[in-house]
Amino acid sequence: MTASAIPDSSPDASPGAAGLDHEVVIIGAGFSGIGAAIALSRIGIRDYVVLERADEVGGTWRQNDYPGLAVDMPTFIYSYPFEMVPDWSRLYAPRDEIKAYADHCVEKYGVAPHLRFGRCVEEVVYDEADNAWEIHLEGGEALRCRYVVSASGLLVEPKMPDIEGIERFEGKLQHSADWDHDYDLSGKRVAVIGTGATAIQIIPAIAERVARLDVYQRTAIWMMGKPDFEIPEAWQRAFRRLPFLQKAIRWLINLFVEITMGMGFIRYRRFPWMFDWLERKLAQSIRDQVDDPEVAERLIPDYSFFCKRPSFSNVYYPTFNLDHVELVTEPIERITKRGVVTRDGREREIDALICATGFSVFDRSCAPNFEVIGCGGLNLGDFWETKRFQAYEGATVPGFPNYFLMMGPYSAAGASYFTMIDTQTRHLTRCLAEARRRDADFVEIRPDAHERNFRKVLRRRADTVLFGGRCETANSYYFDARGDTPGIRPVTGGEHWLRSHLFSLRDYTFERRSRSDPSRQSAGRWEES
Ligand code: NAP
Repeated sequence: MTASAIPDSSPDASPGAAGLDHEVVIIGAGFSGIGAAIALSRIGIRDYVVLERADEVGGTWRQNDYPGLAVDMPTFIYSYPFEMVPDWSRLYAPRDEIKAYADHCVEKYGVAPHLRFGRCVEEVVYDEADNAWEIHLEGGEALRCRYVVSASGLLVEPKMPDIEGIERFEGKLQHSADWDHDYDLSGKRVAVIGTGATAIQIIPAIAERVARLDVYQRTAIWMMGKPDFEIPEAWQRAFRRLPFLQKAIRWLINLFVEITMGMGFIRYRRFPWMFDWLERKLAQSIRDQVDDPEVAERLIPDYSFFCKRPSFSNVYYPTFNLDHVELVTEPIERITKRGVVTRDGREREIDALICATGFSVFDRSCAPNFEVIGCGGLNLGDFWETKRFQAYEGATVPGFPNYFLMMGPYSAAGASYFTMIDTQTRHLTRCLAEARRRDADFVEIRPDAHERNFRKVLRRRADTVLFGGRCETANSYYFDARGDTPGIRPVTGGEHWLRSHLFSLRDYTFERRSRSDPSRQSAGRWEES
């Protein structure tokens, strides 16, 4: 799907009150942006556009397309609860199926006509006089809207390693998020830097066809096996005929994860034995899978399970039994024209260097990944930098009225990303539906409610493994530069979901700030659902 294939105006694109181009602008067409769009339609808001800097939907599943990429949660929980697909090919579906699912959802739920591709947001500014947001795009285009939904994603800004000499490397250099399928790795000497969730999928996927593979591990990762299998056709037929079956499985998986994560991660201090037991089991499993005991020991992390996001694979560890695969744990000192030099002075020559080195997460460069200027010129990035990352229920920040975050600070809870999206969109639509009920067009979280919410998060996080476990050596992106953990809400996914249905709307200020414009109602900007 390309920008030119999309008509450049939605059914409701006519300018309204205060010269608005649209009632709502959603930034980002990944799963959270698509989820927000569907949720808006469901409460009768059809005058919205989704701005996407790329030329396709799918967010991280569009951007990432490296060998071996598959979802690493059971696919039954990796879909919108209202759009469960009966014909996933495997329990852990490959990347192309997930990307196709995104394409399918935008078509089926009528989001496609609202998509605007190739629109990179640079700055959004709140115009207090008109109670409107101005969205400034790269290239000079601008639009005005009443509400903004920021769904620009968390793992979107690839991070190249800051290693001396990397720019002088003369072989093939690529980041995992920018995979070059035209470059053939067969028979090449390859190095992979990183052993995170991405690397552990790439390494076994390419190992058989390369001449040599050096895996540079700085911090080992805890890894669990995954019960992956092809979903038999009989199951797919059964899911088609009896959709509640798939729902029941989803429910059971979620329940299992909620209980184990709730006890092991969220209530670590009360149940430390759970992760202690798991660590022993996982360490033994590494020893069982890796032939060389010395290599096995180096693959065993020295920090508590889940201080860093664990990963899932059945094929990663056995890769180190191949003669041409080497685990290098000596720190990298520099990169030369021909290879990688480690601190012991040894240079390993290579043809290709793959940086599976992750993404910038919760730092000033990417959160937010465009400038957001609220009331009185308050800059959201500066606010977060000086006052710490925070957002009421992970969704709103005082001083930024009518501005809603999908996956903001302290919003991620539980294992299912789609339950998180459901939670965040429920928060958004409750606020907007309440604004409509009160004939208000100004919605802002009250500072006292926001502060209370933040204090609660800080209190509760003390119970988690992040603050009760041994995380010092984890080098985890769960911790930001000041030691906060805005990537994780210290509650279960179920509790956060419930809160999105129950939080008090009195925590918000609802006002009518704009001159009323009856034509807006008749133009169908707010349709009854
Ligand atoms: P990541 O978890 O941040 O891992 C980056 C890796 O690169 C780490 O091993 C890191 O070492 C290493 N690294 C970074 N800079 C380095 C340097 N200068 N020298 C040596 N090593 C360096 O990134 P990721 O693997 O791309 O995963 C990011 C997230 O994406 C995951 O946590 C997960 O949420 C998501 N993901 C999901 C899937 C899926 O569902 N299928 C797949 C892939 C990723 P340190 O640990 O020492 O920092």
